[in-house]
Amino acid sequence: MNIAFIGLGNMGAPMALNLLKAGHTVTGFDTFATPDGIDLAATAGEAAATADVVITMLPNGTILRAVAAEVIPAMKPGAVFCDCSTVDVDSAKAVAEQAVAAGLGALDAPVSGGVGGAAAGTLTFMVGGSDAAFATVQPLFEIMGQKAVHCGASGAGQAAKICNNMILGVTMIATCEAFALADKLGLDRQKMYDVVSTSSGYSWTMNAYTPAPGVGAKSPADNDYKPGFAAELMLKDLRLSQQAAESADADTPMGQLAAALYETFVDKEDGKGMDFSAMLPRFEKRSRG
Ligand code: NAD
Repeated sequence: MNIAFIGLGNMGAPMALNLLKAGHTVTGFDTFATPDGIDLAATAGEAAATADVVITMLPNGTILRAVAAEVIPAMKPGAVFCDCSTVDVDSAKAVAEQAVAAGLGALDAPVSGGVGGAAAGTLTFMVGGSDAAFATVQPLFEIMGQKAVHCGASGAGQAAKICNNMILGVTMIATCEAFALADKLGLDRQKMYDVVSTSSGYSWTMNAYTPAPGVGAKSPADNDYKPGFAAELMLKDLRLSQQAAESADADTPMGQLAAALYETFVDKEDGKGMDFSAMLPRFEKRSRG
C-alpha cells in the first residue's frame, strides 16, 4: 500500500519503519523530526495526496484537528484517514466526521504498548470506525502490532484507551499507597508482594509492573524509575478521561482523584520525567497530615 505517515516522533518513527520493512511505500511528514530511512514530503498535504491510508501519530487533539483540516481535502477518494494518537473523544469524532463527509474512510486507533511495542511491532490497537475502513487498515495493524480490537463506531477506540488508562492510573496509585502503608506497618515488601500478587489485591500494576525496586516483576522501579511510561503521559490520559467524563456526564470520583494526584506529582513535585510508578517513593516520603 501507499502510506502517508504524519508525526514521526518516539512512536510514529518506529511504526513507520515497520511498515516500510514489510514492503509498503511510506512517505512521512513531521514539523520537526527527520528520522533516518523514511522519505519525507515537504507538507502533510503532499504526503497524503497519493496515499491509500494516511496514519497520524501526533501529540494532541488540537494538532490532530489542524493536520486533518490540511490533509483531508488533499486525500484521494476512498482512502482511509487513520489516527493512532491518543486524543480527546470529541476531536476523534470531529475529525472522523470531516473525513467521512469528504468521501473517505476514518478510524481512531490509539495504541497501548509504548515505545518498546512500537519498535517491536507488538502494539495493541483499539479501533473506532466503519467495518470497511477497519478491513482496509487491518493488514497494517498486523504489522505494527500484535492485536487490533474493533471497538465500535468513531470515538470507540479513544473511549477504550482512556477507560483502560483510568483503571491503570487508579490501580497504580492504590498499589503504591498500599506498599507505603505496608512499610509503615513493618511488613517486608517481598512478603507483601508474595501475598498480594496471589490474592484478591493482584493487578497488572502489582504483578507485571511492580512499583517496588527488587520485588516482583522487573520494571522501571529497578531502573531508578526512568520511564517506561512517564508520569506526564499518565496525566495526559487521566485528563482526557475526565474531559470525556464531563462531556458524557459520568461520575468518576477515583479517576478525578487520580488525575489530581498525578497533576500535583508532575507540576508541583519531582514527577516530571519519572515513570508513573514513582508514586511509590512519593508516598514513602509522606505522612498522613
Ligand atoms: P512525540 O512528541 O515523540 O511525537 C509527536 C510528533 O509529532 C513529533 O515528532 C512532532 O514534531 C510531531 N508534530 C507535532 N505537530 C505536528 C504537525 N502539525 N504536523 C506534523 N507533525 C507534527 O510523541 P509520541 O511519544 O510519539 O506520542 C505520539 C502519540 O502517541 C501521543 O498522542 C501519545 O499520547 C501517544 N502514545 C504515546 C505512548 C508513548 O509511550 N510514548 C504510548 C501510547 C500512546
